[in-house]
Amino acid sequence: MNSASYLKEYVIESELCTRCGTCIGVCPCKVFTFQDDEIQTNEASCIDCGLCKKTCPGVDFDFLRYANNGDIQSRYFGHYRSIIKGRSKCEGVCGASGGVVTTILIHLLNSKQINGALVVSSYNGLGFEPIIADNEALINDSAQSKYCLIPMNKLLADVKKKEGQFAFVGLPCQVHGLRKAMEFDPILKKKINLIIGLFCGFNMYYEATDYLISQSKIPEKNIKNVEYRSKVGDNTGFCVTSLDGTRFFTSKSEYAFLNMVFVPRRCLKCYDYSAEFADLSVGDAWELKNASRVILRSIKAENIISDLVKEKLVDIFESSEYEILKKQKKIIDNKKLYIWERFKYFKHKPQYNVAPIPLNGKEKIGAFIFNSAVLLGTSKFAKLVLRIVPYRFITVLLNKKR
Ligand SMILES: Cc1cc2nc3c(=O)[nH]c(=O)nc-3n(C[C@H](O)[C@H](O)[C@H](O)COP(=O)(O)OP(=O)(O)OC[C@H]3O[C@@H](n4cnc5c(N)ncnc54)[C@H](O)[C@@H]3O)c2cc1C
Ligand code: SF4
Ligand code: SF4
Ligand code: SF4
Repeated sequence: MNSASYLKEYVIESELCTRCGTCIGVCPCKVFTFQDDEIQTNEASCIDCGLCKKTCPGVDFDFLRYANNGDIQSRYFGHYRSIIKGRSKCEGVCGASGGVVTTILIHLLNSKQINGALVVSSYNGLGFEPIIADNEALINDSAQSKYCLIPMNKLLADVKKKEGQFAFVGLPCQVHGLRKAMEFDPILKKKINLIIGLFCGFNMYYEATDYLISQSKIPEKNIKNVEYRSKVGDNTGFCVTSLDGTRFFTSKSEYAFLNMVFVPRRCLKCYDYSAEFADLSVGDAWELKNASRVILRSIKAENIISDLVKEKLVDIFESSEYEILKKQKKIIDNKKLYIWERFKYFKHKPQYNVAPIPLNGKEKIGAFIFNSAVLLGTSKFAKLVLRIVPYRFITVLLNKKR
């Protein structure tokens, strides 16, 4: 069995593939492609160099080996140096939370510390694709969260061909793949200047985007763009804009339930909430309007934030682990605590080299409720219900329940 066949059988067909795209990015023979939310393989082209097998984070990622033991160690957030929150002061930056990610990238580009950034851009109005943005306009256009699977790390092949230094933005699983790839490839290690990780509750198949687009009743050929975190007045939500300016809008709290229906199996086996192996990790600071939470994990990241403050590009406020937990403990428990009970349902599990956390009685009940709900939510029955019951009826019901 060559390495491509190994990945196909033991990762992709075993529900362990995160769709991070590392295999596409490291393979010299174009064995892997991404299509319809899945990694496709052409095993016959494999020369068995072994790179994809060594760098794939789907089967294993060693949390102990990659942690920086000099820092504060947290059960919830991994190793870090300090935690802050902030928002961009730059005109024109419209981020998912406070636009801190986009502001950092623009600052690094304008101060010539990087030549480009690996980000996600709109594709054809309807979808999203990873790109290397080498100018301010492209970086700005790529702001905002796209709640779907994007094989970011396929860009690693392009990074190697380009001159200069690059910043990377990605989800925890994409950072795992990148860290592994950088370990095996000194050129990548030299070229990736900064890793910005995003917090990740769970992700969704593109089917969720497709479902929301279909609710807009705007024909696909007339769609200008779709956004998950569009800001309309005081509200944030999914917005489809047509070429003639017509808009369909549904708020984030309305469409949030889709995460329970369209979550990929591999996300339910994921142990990293806050991109623990990035230089800095960014998420929502729910207690402060339009603000990003930032976990600083490296000295380089701390220095960049100091520069942004000095140049008056961001407003920064104090924050802490306690403050994150006050707002997000439930979503973190769903991912990082209940995983140990959830593993019992799955035949194939990734290895993280982390000791399981024993759950007390109350936590076991919480795990049972959440895990049952998400397994029911991802069933064919739930998808059938979604096809039959009108979306607006579901959102009204959920609003009443809240
Ligand atoms: C799938 C997903 C799940 C998330 N879950 C949580 C959560 O549970 N809790 C929480 O606090 N925060 C979560 N976030 C992070 C949050 O939505 C914001 O991305 C974060 O707060 C940064 O905001 P910002 O305004 O500073 O970033 P912006 O300035 O808006 O920049 C966002 C950057 O993220 C990149 N990006 C967007 N989507 C993707 C993607 N799918 N894959 C890789 N890169 C992408 C863009 O290219 C852009 O560079 C999630 C993000 C995603 C994409
Ligand atoms: S490298 Fe990433 S995309 Fe490729 S098989 Fe492994 S987990 Fe899937
Ligand atoms: S990276 Fe190497 S081992 Fe993996 S599929 Fe490509 S050629 Fe084969
Ligand atoms: S939940 Fe984990 S595997 Fe899924 S997209 Fe987020 S980081 Fe990747």
